[in-house]
Amino acid sequence: MTDQHQGQCVICAERPVWADRLICTACYGGLRDDLTVCAGAYAWLGECMLALPPSWRTSTIRSNEVEAAAPMPLGLVDARARIADTLLFWVRAAMEIRAGRGGPPTPTVAGCTWWLRRQLHWIVRNRAVETLARDLHDLRRDAQRSAPWDRVRRDLPTRCPRCWRLSLTWYQGDDWITCRSDDCGRLLSFPRVRRAVNDWARLRLEHFAKETISA
Ligand SMILES: [Zn+2]
Ligand SMILES: [Zn+2]
Repeated sequence: MTDQHQGQCVICAERPVWADRLICTACYGGLRDDLTVCAGAYAWLGECMLALPPSWRTSTIRSNEVEAAAPMPLGLVDARARIADTLLFWVRAAMEIRAGRGGPPTPTVAGCTWWLRRQLHWIVRNRAVETLARDLHDLRRDAQRSAPWDRVRRDLPTRCPRCWRLSLTWYQGDDWITCRSDDCGRLLSFPRVRRAVNDWARLRLEHFAKETISA
């Protein structure tokens, strides 16, 4: 380090460095954490892709425009690919900086993560750590945005207008309502669900009126 901020962490630019490293202890912990979270997010995004409702998985053309309204979750696919590409990029970069050291046992995301964690002790003494930290932070943020793992979920006390089960849920951030039923899995717009609730309320009222009159 030759700049005027000598002795200051290159990541947070706030705290003093940890001994002869370029970063502070807090940022070292954060870096290790981001690396682990990225590997976990990769697996999580894969699970989310498998768990997509049937209406995303089939190629059937439906006549009901309402159910076709939900967009394909391309963000999931992109965020997942970016994690794999970035980790592989950093493995290659680290192998170039420290030639002759050998790389990860397997070129998988899990293998790359495990290997990079074992290289951190010298990476934190190299200027590249600044960019690596930023990359990992961005990956983590993008993954969290495309498939939040602590997502708020609200189950609706309303029957699905298609399968008639009590399986409607709104997930935070969605512009639609999802039917959780495996063999239905419809994605419904808010007006569609509202209409279903009104229809149901009207039927109940009519039924109630009929019962009262005949009593
Ligand atoms: Zn720091
Ligand atoms: Zn349904």
